[in-house]
Amino acid sequence: MVRTRIAPSPTGMLHLGTARTALFSWAYARHCGGNFILRIEDTDLERSTEEAVQVIYDSCAWLGLNYDEKPVRQTERLARYREVVDQLLRDGKAYHCYASREELDQMRTAQMERGEKARYDGRWRPENAVGKTPPADVAPIIRFRNPDTGDVTWDDMVKGPITINNRELDDLVIMRADGVPTYNFAVVVDDIDMAMTHVMRGDDHVNNTPRQINLYQALGAKVPRFGHLSMILGPDGKKLSKRHGAVSVMQYQEDGFLPEALFNYLARLGWSHGDDEKFSRTQLIEWFDGAHISNSPAMFDPKKLLWLNGEYIKEAEDAHLARLLKPFIEREGGVLNDIALEPVVALLKDRTQTLVELAKAAKVFYPAQAPAAELITAHVTDENRAALRSLYTKLRGLTQWQRGEIAAAIKVVVTETGLKMPKLAIPLRVLLTGQTQTPSIDAVLEIFGRERVLAALGSV
Ligand code: GLU
Repeated sequence: MVRTRIAPSPTGMLHLGTARTALFSWAYARHCGGNFILRIEDTDLERSTEEAVQVIYDSCAWLGLNYDEKPVRQTERLARYREVVDQLLRDGKAYHCYASREELDQMRTAQMERGEKARYDGRWRPENAVGKTPPADVAPIIRFRNPDTGDVTWDDMVKGPITINNRELDDLVIMRADGVPTYNFAVVVDDIDMAMTHVMRGDDHVNNTPRQINLYQALGAKVPRFGHLSMILGPDGKKLSKRHGAVSVMQYQEDGFLPEALFNYLARLGWSHGDDEKFSRTQLIEWFDGAHISNSPAMFDPKKLLWLNGEYIKEAEDAHLARLLKPFIEREGGVLNDIALEPVVALLKDRTQTLVELAKAAKVFYPAQAPAAELITAHVTDENRAALRSLYTKLRGLTQWQRGEIAAAIKVVVTETGLKMPKLAIPLRVLLTGQTQTPSIDAVLEIFGRERVLAALGSV
């Protein structure tokens, strides 16, 4: 069975790049009817935090990247890493290295001066350590004894066949002196124990992969299929970072994006299905067969994401949007009252691209306070008072409180009085919302409802 995973380190937010990797891994597992697993790589005790773990859970939940098993945390598996290290030590495939930091620095400097590549020279390999007494003041680290010769080859899902000669690789540190495994070792033990069949990750890990493959082989384990995803670049062609705007998944929620829009957009970053730009999760699952993942960097285009979000907002159910919108209206300083939000959403959703914009527009229906008296006196004048009173009478007489009827009543008053439309509409807006600009006045009156409108107009 196909098994894929995402293995973020909980050191802050969930970056869009990690979310994209997670999404591809998820989609591939779902396409194949396999499993998708979440593993928290929290062995960096200084940088990992519980809040960041929660952010990973929240981000996966928000994007709908559901995982199939209880998330695994590396800090719960320290004994297991120790066990595997001991096995490698017993088999002569790993060894204690007592080289001090200063010694390693000197070695590196000397190599560079000779014009060589800096690499560990194998001085504590068992065959070189014969007769040496380990220094008492150095706590040893453990290194993997990398094979000296031969090639490591894999057929990358994205990059195609890659071959590295073992001469390029030195003896990897697999466990630090404090017993904490290094990334390259823990990831292999985990991926073996969790029976991963496909490992997708960013191509900043390409250099780690041949070393990891050697570890798989030393442990007699089957090597999974690797796929290294190309970088995501900002619109200026540089690696996507905070300089380009929000890069954290949850920031997009804050900024009023719908998860389905971000999901859809991320799926298109470095993967394509013909010219399709907008598609559902179900379609992605159907299409995502591991092919068509691009080897060239993907360009993050915030405008396109905004456009897509606008499309998802347009087609979202009003009731669903209304639920999502409430906290945004409050954040914008609006105060929710008993005016139903669904018709408001229906009126406004076609012209907005984010929930923040939608909330800003919806706020006219939820003013925080009654319009200021000065504002009303400025707009309700001797010129239009009689017209407003006449409109009051006509509106009170309407049998149906409905946009078309309201518009007709306003028109009659405009014709009768010879006033220009804004002379009537603006005071109405001010009376109801305290604003001089709102969406179409008949729609606004309909939404405010008969009682509120008559109460406001009755006072002029
Ligand atoms: N914790 C690693 C990262 O976030 C995982 C890499 C991998 O998938 O092997 O880059």
